[in-house]
Amino acid sequence: MPDASRLVILDRDGVINRDSDAYVKSLDEWIPYPSSIEAIARLSRAGWDVAIATNQSGIARGYYDEATLEAMHAELEKQVGDAGGEIAYIAYCPHGPDDGCSCRKPLPGLLEEIRAALGLESLAGSWMVGDSLRDLQAGEPMGCRPVLVRTGKGSKTEAQGEGLEGALIFDELAGFVDWLLDKC
Ligand SMILES: [Mg+2]
Ligand SMILES: [Zn+2]
Repeated sequence: MPDASRLVILDRDGVINRDSDAYVKSLDEWIPYPSSIEAIARLSRAGWDVAIATNQSGIARGYYDEATLEAMHAELEKQVGDAGGEIAYIAYCPHGPDDGCSCRKPLPGLLEEIRAALGLESLAGSWMVGDSLRDLQAGEPMGCRPVLVRTGKGSKTEAQGEGLEGALIFDELAGFVDWLLDKC
């Protein structure tokens, strides 16, 4: 039975794989950070649940389709699996900024989807890790503890310095996971 205090929710682009201002549009362009794959597997092997909440407006913009996104996520799950871990759930928003959806971060809809999919009453006490402020904002109303990583857009987000008062900041996902597994 999943337990929110043993759940880590990750943004994808800029946290697990390289981000691109031109969008990650194909399996070839989906380039993971090896240390992040290993970090996800370590969390999982230590009994944590790992879920992903990712904005994918490139679908609404017509840059790639859901089958391509599924192929990226199948590769992600395979690499984590090969490292001995698993991903509990992947939630994505395929909409654009003007679609009026309730799932595009900073709105909390993807996190609500994860909560329901994992059968949790609440996400209070779970961790939300992202490289953009909107990732952390999505977790806030759900009671997630905010973590910023400096990969992807993270250094820029840190330099802007807004909304990070309660956040822990690490160079990369692996650094957060080292800290978390040492502490818990
Ligand atoms: Mg990101
Ligand atoms: Zn959406």
